[in-house]
Amino acid sequence: MKVWVDPERCQGHTLCSMIAPNSFQLSDIDGSSSAVSDVVPDDQLEQVREAVRSCPEQAIILTD
Ligand code: SF4
Repeated sequence: MKVWVDPERCQGHTLCSMIAPNSFQLSDIDGSSSAVSDVVPDDQLEQVREAVRSCPEQAIILTD
């Protein structure tokens, strides 16, 4: 699975990095999130799915 954060939608709520700290990093400049790696390791997939569900802006896109 691959993941990315839509910068147009992300509002920097930080929820994703709290839920999946190994998969999302926050910008020091504006607090926006980005994926640490576009390929999600299997052992992080459930946390990433939870982040997708929790993002208030639906900014996290998870694809095959
Ligand atoms: S939870 Fe959503 S809006 Fe908040 S930082 Fe993460 S991707 Fe951005």
